[in-house]
Order: sequence, then C-alpha cells, then structure tokens
Amino acid sequence: MAEIEYFKPNTVSEALKIAETSKHPFRFLAGGTDLFVNRFQGNDKSENLIDLTFIEELKKIEIVEDRFHPFNSPNSQKNKNSNTKEAKITGERILTYLKIGALVSLEEVTRHPTVRNEFPALENSCRSVGTPVIRKTATLAGNILCENRCIFFNQSDWWRTAAGHCLKCEGDICIATGGKKACFSKFVSDSAVALISMNALIEIASSSEKRVEKLENIFSGNGVKPRLIKNNELILSVLLPMGENFRASFKKLRLRESLDFASLSTCVSLNKRGEIKIVLGSVDPAPVVVSGKINAVTKELVKECVKKARIVENDVFSRKYRKEMIPVFLNKSFTEIFSNWKT
Ligand SMILES: Cc1cc2nc3c(=O)[nH]c(=O)nc-3n(C[C@H](O)[C@H](O)[C@H](O)COP(=O)(O)OP(=O)(O)OC[C@H]3O[C@@H](n4cnc5c(N)ncnc54)[C@H](O)[C@@H]3O)c2cc1C
Repeated sequence: MAEIEYFKPNTVSEALKIAETSKHPFRFLAGGTDLFVNRFQGNDKSENLIDLTFIEELKKIEIVEDRFHPFNSPNSQKNKNSNTKEAKITGERILTYLKIGALVSLEEVTRHPTVRNEFPALENSCRSVGTPVIRKTATLAGNILCENRCIFFNQSDWWRTAAGHCLKCEGDICIATGGKKACFSKFVSDSAVALISMNALIEIASSSEKRVEKLENIFSGNGVKPRLIKNNELILSVLLPMGENFRASFKKLRLRESLDFASLSTCVSLNKRGEIKIVLGSVDPAPVVVSGKINAVTKELVKECVKKARIVENDVFSRKYRKEMIPVFLNKSFTEIFSNWKT
C-alpha cells in the first residue's frame, strides 16, 4: 500500500480542523472494519487517515432534551416550513431523545438497557451485523456510512481488472444492468434500516457549522456517491425520539446467519399515534421508505415497497427471490407489531 499520513485527534474540534486543512484526500477512521477492507481491495484510495478512536466525547450514550429537533434549527428555512407541517400532523412535540455517540460500538448499543427496553429493533439490527469480533470494533456511525455494496464492486483489484471496472470504480458501465447512467450498488447498513424506521435524527458537524437532519435525508440514491455528507463532515451522534412506544420488527435475509451482509433487510415500526414506517435495505442504492397509518391496507403498503425497490442482479441471491421475500418479511412483521394493538 502507498504511504499514508495518520492523524490522531483527541477532540472533535481537532479532528475537524485537521479535516479542514488537509491538502490530500483523507478518510475518518472509526472501527476500520469497512474502510480497511475497501482499502485492501483498492476501492478506497484516500491518502490520509484521521483516526477518531481517541475522541472520548463521541463514545457516550445519554438521554437529552429537545434542542436537537431539526425543525428547531435556526439555519434552515426548509426545516422551519417542515416544522409547521409536522406540528400540525402530530399535534405535539417530542421532548427527549436517546443520543448515541458516533463512536459507540455496535456491541455496546446491543447491551444498553434503554436500547433494549425502548428500541429492541435497533438491538436486533446491530446484533445482526458481521460477527461478535466485528461488532466489538465496528461503530454506529461507521455502520451508517458503510460503503454501498455490489458483487461486481466488492472484489479484488485483479478481479475487477479482469471483469472490467464498473461505474462505481471509474469504469463506464454498470456490469449488473449493462446501463451507462446509473449505479445500483446496494445500501447495506443494518442499523440505519432500524434507526430510520424509528425516525432517528443525525447530528453532523463541519468546522463551520453543526446541523441535525432526519437520517433518511443523508442518502442520495446514487450508487456511486450514496450519501449527501461532505468528506470534511463528521457524524457526532444519532438521536432516537423517546416515549413513542415504538413496536418495531427488524428482519434480515442473508446467505450465512453467522456473518454475511444483508441481501434484504426490513424494519417496520408502529408508534403510539398509529403511524407505520417501513424501511427496506439492500434492495436499492438508498433506503426505501414507505409510511402509512394503522388503518392503511397493509397489502397496499407492501405493494408500494416492492415497486419502490430498484432491485437488480447484483447479489448472491437472485433479484426475483429478494423481491419475493419483501412481502414475506413485511407480513411477518405486521403480524408481530399489530398483535394486541389497541387504538
Ligand atoms: C466480514 C464482515 C461482515 C460484515 N457484515 C456486516 C453486516 O452484516 N451488516 C453491516 O451493516 N455491515 C457489515 N460489515 C461492515 C462493517 O463492519 C460495519 O458496517 C461497521 O459497522 C462499520 O463501522 P466501522 O466503525 O468499522 O467503520 P469504518 O470502517 O471505520 O468507517 C466506515 C466509513 O464511515 C466513515 N466514518 C466512520 N465514522 C465516521 C464519523 N463519525 N463521521 C464521518 N465519517 C465516519 C469512514 O470514513 C468510512 O468511510 C461487515 C464487515 C465485514 C468485514
């Protein structure tokens, strides 16, 4: 591998300053379980690494008050407009959040009592990532930003040179579809599927501003550059609204239960107001999100999910099988979350 420059900041502001002044392409390094695999395969060529693992302030899980709500942000007119709309729909404001620091390991997430009590679907999704060793090292922010995957991209440089480079690695064609315009690499983060279904927010900082967004808004839908976060922006935390009485059900299809990435992941949530939010992973370059109400015809919601998912032949399981498994998972989840529901 080429020589790299390695930085070891102790605080968020130090990390952001290094990022701002870096003259060479760089990556933030958290657990490294995704980044290093991509580097070894020649899929990440950034020269410098900014290691976040010494930043203690990003390793906490705590309960915080409502100053994070994106619709309260004074910076964004768009957000202010949404505020009015949301306030009308919900008729109330969310007051507290579970704030999970960016560097909290997936294993710690699965062990935290509030996660277990209030957000068991998040516990299940984090527990389904990789192996126990990976979950000890892998962080929540790293999982959310885990690079999109495709069987034609996640190969050695040799393999890709022989088969031809695809759109995601500077080639001029998508090998999965034969198309020249769109890359269909799959969004694969398991934790993000559960987090989005429970309306998680994400706190992002650069050296000049701090902002809070709905987690689903950071995904672009473009497989080549799947996220709308700039290279010099750091994820600080993820915020989950508390007191929503979520009933949520996470499911994952994969080749080997012990290790593999998802070929399809789903999470269905129902909150105390009877709002349903369905999120699909591994079937599109971005999470597929469909919302409804408790009295919606679930068959219609399932149909909308299948229609929205741009599944192509880029996985170990066939496109047809993955598509057929969407209703199977969603119907099982509906049965789980609707049992004993009283309006
Ligand atoms: C064998 C194996 C199996 C796996 N199985 C799964 C699986 O089933 N499901 C799954 O979702 N993933 C899986 N992974 C991928 C990976 O382990 C996880 O996604 C993991 O959570 C990544 O976290 P990390 O802390 O190691 O991230 P890193 O590898 O350190 O970083 C990943 C990306 O996030 C960026 N980043 C990290 N933290 C921040 C931050 N705070 N701010 C801004 N950018 C940041 C990095 O620059 C990099 O681009 C697997 C990996 C392996 C090797």
